[in-house]
Amino acid sequence: MNEFDLIRRYFSSHHSPRHEEIILGIGDDAALCRARPGMELAIAVDTLAAGVHFPADTAPEDIGYKALAVNLSDMAAMGAEPAWMTLALTCPCVNETWLAAFSQGLLGLADASGVALIGGDTTRGPLTVTVQITGFVPEGRALTRTGAQAGDGIYVTGALGDAGLALQILKNSQEDNFLKETAGLSQALRQYVQTRLDRPVPRLHEGIALRGIAASAIDVSDGLLADLGHLLTPGNLGAVLMLEKIPLSSALKSLPRETAWPLAAGAGDDYELCFTVPPSREPDLQYALAKCVYTRIGTVETTPGIRCLCTDGQLWQNHCQTGYKHF
Ligand code: ADP
Ligand code: MG
Repeated sequence: MNEFDLIRRYFSSHHSPRHEEIILGIGDDAALCRARPGMELAIAVDTLAAGVHFPADTAPEDIGYKALAVNLSDMAAMGAEPAWMTLALTCPCVNETWLAAFSQGLLGLADASGVALIGGDTTRGPLTVTVQITGFVPEGRALTRTGAQAGDGIYVTGALGDAGLALQILKNSQEDNFLKETAGLSQALRQYVQTRLDRPVPRLHEGIALRGIAASAIDVSDGLLADLGHLLTPGNLGAVLMLEKIPLSSALKSLPRETAWPLAAGAGDDYELCFTVPPSREPDLQYALAKCVYTRIGTVETTPGIRCLCTDGQLWQNHCQTGYKHF
């Protein structure tokens, strides 16, 4: 099977969701698209490399799913509605079973989120998946990292720390280093956190609903403290967080706090949204996210730095790593 057969069989024969704005999709030297009137284009790209972002033996459906999900999460964080994507796939060989499962994971999520595959590039090399995505956002209404102000409430969607726990369990099992804190976790909860790591749910609905309400927003890919820091530094601001308010799943609740809090505050890969809302917009927030899971965890302050308070009001001496750094 050559490169062109591969593209035809696994990527271009698939009938992607249609958008009026796509003039020409896969098959030419470039795709042709136009912007929707009154809309800006939100464009993001994310690469998943084997051995860096996932173990090489991860299920191919999950690799395909996640390669798109992390990009959809960027759309959510901007308040954008995703429209189309390109795929750059580098793989060591043509493994048809792997490719079929990979494209199913990727294109299944693409169909479910209304995203069309309009082009890409296919090469041989160490397994690397790059998805570039484009979405629409009404002019001037994108959520950005720069609008936070002192007094804003700090919120997160869903629950935090599950993906970090799954990574921790994986790492410990590889190193034969049995972590006694997680020994009591049921099989069902282990499976749950593994699914949270492999199949993050992009908060697209929440992102769109937050247009005009959130002053700033980001998706939590590197860890809450690191990502919240990106909302605070542009204005030279700080924050106070109530540790016991950080939403935890049953899996994290079943762990001792000393294990759960560093995961919830410091570990990445959850792909929840973190956003700030001025006090005047709180009623609109309640209305806009009435059907969503979200929690207020703290307040933006003028003093730089993030102060985490324990239940007794004591300052938490945290030992979180502050975000994954590639270099
Ligand atoms: P070129 O040599 O002009 O870059 P290619 O031979 O790489 O073109 O690709 C042929 C067509 O197939 C292009 O339209 C390209 O966008 C598309 N394509 C290549 N790889 C992929 C892929 N993995 N998924 C989707 N489309 C792809
Ligand atoms: Mg090419």
